[in-house]
This record gives sequence, C-alpha cells and structure tokens, in this order.
Amino acid sequence: MARARSAAAKQKQLMDKHREELLAAIDKMSEEQVECRDIQHSYRKWSVRWNPQDREYIRELKCLRCGTIRAQRVSERGYLLGSSYAYSEGYLVKGLGRLDQDDRGTIRLQSMLGDLERSEQNA
Ligand SMILES: [Zn+2]
Repeated sequence: MARARSAAAKQKQLMDKHREELLAAIDKMSEEQVECRDIQHSYRKWSVRWNPQDREYIRELKCLRCGTIRAQRVSERGYLLGSSYAYSEGYLVKGLGRLDQDDRGTIRLQSMLGDLERSEQNA
C-alpha cells in the first residue's frame, strides 16, 4: 500500500476542501461501494410485483457488490417509466451535492490505486 498511499498523499496536497471532503467520504465507503462508484453497479434481477392501482410493474434489481436496490417502474407494455434507488449505508456522499467529472476522476483513481498494488504483487 506504500506507493498507493504516497500517490494519494501527493494528490491530496493539491486538493481543495471539497476534494478533501470527497476523499474522507471515499475512506468511509466499503471497497465494494468504491468499486460500484468507479465501474457502476453489477445488477441482478431481484423481484417483480404488479401494482394494480397504477397498472404498472415494480421490478427490483439488486447490486451483487454493494447491495444497492434499483426499483424500476415498468408499464403494462414493458416501457420503463422511471427508477428509484435504495443505496447501501455510506454510498451517498452527503453535503457534496452532485459529483462532477473531477470527483469521478478522484474516485476512479482511489479505486485503481489498490488494484495497482495488487497487480504489482501478482506480477
Ligand atoms: Zn453496487
């Protein structure tokens, strides 16, 4: 982890308060949550129910990694009407608002640094 930590430390010096808060939030995330933030959720079909009141299906997909549940509202004819998400604890970064491209870059880098260390050990 030494190389990953020093790279992360150097990067951190260049960062503003927002970035530091983001790094603190990433630190609190599980490895699975960081991975999902980096390469998106890995969904599996979970459940389906028919809602007779609104004449629509509610289909739930569950992420195999982090446990996030995506609920899709699907019309009788199969059209997607909307989605809502139930995230696992710690997934959402409170107070930071919507993550921008720079934020996603920071998350991607943090996700990759551990992988780099592991890949070098296995080489
Ligand atoms: Zn996930």
